[in-house]
Amino acid sequence: MSATPLPAEAQAASSAPQGVRATIPETDLRLDTLMRLAERYFGVTAACVIPGESNGGWSGAGLDAPLREALRGLQDASGAWASEPLVVADTNTVPAWRTCLSTARALPFRFAAAWPLRDAAGERIGSLCLIDHAPRDLSDTERTSLDDFARLASALVGQHASNAAQRQEAQTEAEAEIETEAMRARERLLTLAIGGSGTGVWDRDVVTGEIRYSTGWKAMLGYTEDEVTNRIEDSYQRLHPDDADYVKAAMQAHFDGRTEIYEVEHRIRCKDGRYKWICSRGKVMSRDSEGRALRMIGTTTDITSTREMAERLRETVNLITNLTNEVPGLVFKCRRTPGGHVSFPYASAGIAEIYELTPEAVAEDASCVDALIHPDDLEIWLASFAESAARLAPWHLEYRVQLPVQGLRWRQGDAKPQRLAGGVTVWHGFITDVTERKRIEAELHEFATTDGLTGLSNRRHFMARLEAQLAQLRCTGGPSAAVLMCDLDHFKSINDRWGHAVGDRALRHFADILRTHLRTGDVAGRIGGEEFAIVLGAANLESARAVGQRIQRCIAEQPLMGGNEPVSLAVSIGITEMTAVDSSAEMTLSRSDFALYRAKRNGRNRIECA
Ligand code: GH3
Ligand code: MG
Ligand code: MG
Repeated sequence: MSATPLPAEAQAASSAPQGVRATIPETDLRLDTLMRLAERYFGVTAACVIPGESNGGWSGAGLDAPLREALRGLQDASGAWASEPLVVADTNTVPAWRTCLSTARALPFRFAAAWPLRDAAGERIGSLCLIDHAPRDLSDTERTSLDDFARLASALVGQHASNAAQRQEAQTEAEAEIETEAMRARERLLTLAIGGSGTGVWDRDVVTGEIRYSTGWKAMLGYTEDEVTNRIEDSYQRLHPDDADYVKAAMQAHFDGRTEIYEVEHRIRCKDGRYKWICSRGKVMSRDSEGRALRMIGTTTDITSTREMAERLRETVNLITNLTNEVPGLVFKCRRTPGGHVSFPYASAGIAEIYELTPEAVAEDASCVDALIHPDDLEIWLASFAESAARLAPWHLEYRVQLPVQGLRWRQGDAKPQRLAGGVTVWHGFITDVTERKRIEAELHEFATTDGLTGLSNRRHFMARLEAQLAQLRCTGGPSAAVLMCDLDHFKSINDRWGHAVGDRALRHFADILRTHLRTGDVAGRIGGEEFAIVLGAANLESARAVGQRIQRCIAEQPLMGGNEPVSLAVSIGITEMTAVDSSAEMTLSRSDFALYRAKRNGRNRIECA
């Protein structure tokens, strides 16, 4: 019996080049051979193996894959013929078979036989199908032979399945090996990272009290791999006695579920007996049904150097605070926003003396300081900060404060500005009490400018004021000033008659009279022994003469008493007008001196002008 010629695609598959066939599993080739034998033996158009449901992606054997697929669909749909041998002599009588076989191929099949394939355990693993174009039947011998073919095919399909399982297993093993290697690589990296970061890992069985440490953990404390026991009691022995209570409390809190994680910093004893500061972090990984901790995993990080650095930082801050608190005056950091809000993020204890305030009072808002600035200095105080901020120039100012307890005091401030992000200006500087210095300076100034006996300006200061008057005159071209030179008449005789002390009183008496006749801006000075000069602003010869006459009248009407007797005093006065063309103040003064000389010469106690 010869097989019907195969369709073109089946022919092509059976005569595929060796290279392509080599990729087909050995069992499939044997099944193909068996199917060809079956075709020839039974004289049918085709014989094929259809896999069962758990085929692992295998599509069966025997030629004509589309036909196998169609039969497989039918097998899966019906089920009945797949468990018992089935012979359909003429498929036209069975619609399912007719449809299946006519749609799978151009030529309709009329005969089909399906024999179940079973594995060693008797489980159905597929079907062996015979199909033919013509209706026919199978003899008893053929049915027996088909049993044999089915057994052979079952053995081969079983082998195929076990081969596939082996291949799958081998592939799974290879993939597992790759994954294991990747895990090892990740672990090596993690170990390196953990080791490099000074961190050790521990794993605690809370129930048994066993705790295992990583090599890095042991190395961190100077131990080798075998030198640390795995008992939790021993680990408590390594705790610093001062830290043991709070470490245990933190651990208990975490066991009780009161904290999300266990995290505590404490000291731990190394192999060499010294203590290291560590940060221990951990988390309970599993609990029993009642919430009791079973297993906990954590890390230990060496923070000794961080703690030492923090300690040094604290010491530095303390040192700075102590120093700044000991320095007389106020050491400060002042912050000013572009909008003008001022605060003192740092103020030393000296703020109590400088402003009678506390550091806290100015930490957020320093407007209370403005309220202490003397009203006459407030404008320049505000402007000085604005200018320093604008030009980033050092701030320096001497100013007065009006304090609740100390009253009026002088302050001197010096600071350097820096510009921060957002236009914020920050000054670091200090403010000291300069009240005493200011008092001495004022004294020195007075000493340098005032005549000690009369309290009037001394000659040098008077001349300076005269120069200033002349400069102003030249500058503004305003009304002239008048200069009066006064010399007490026959003063030598007063000394001679009343004594030098009365002479001094007479000089003071005359100075007092001068003072009563001065307006704001006028200056009187003692130029020599009993010589005085006055400069009157915005005055001409006439008004100056009137002033001179009033002074003379005053001397006459308010005599100085020497005991019960009046000391007769008189003064000669020379007047001149200061003009912008005067080359110097000396020149103006010598002109008035010349007028004075004429007053003396013309009989004294009189006024002459020049
Ligand atoms: P005349 O009218 O010409 O100015 O005569 P006079 O005596 O005032 O002038 P003279 O220059 O001869 O004498 C000035 C005197 O003033 C001499 C001096 O003893 C006195 N005299 C100068 N300074 C002081 C002083 O500080 N105290 C006292 N008591 N006398 C002084
Ligand atoms: Mg004189
Ligand atoms: Mg005189």
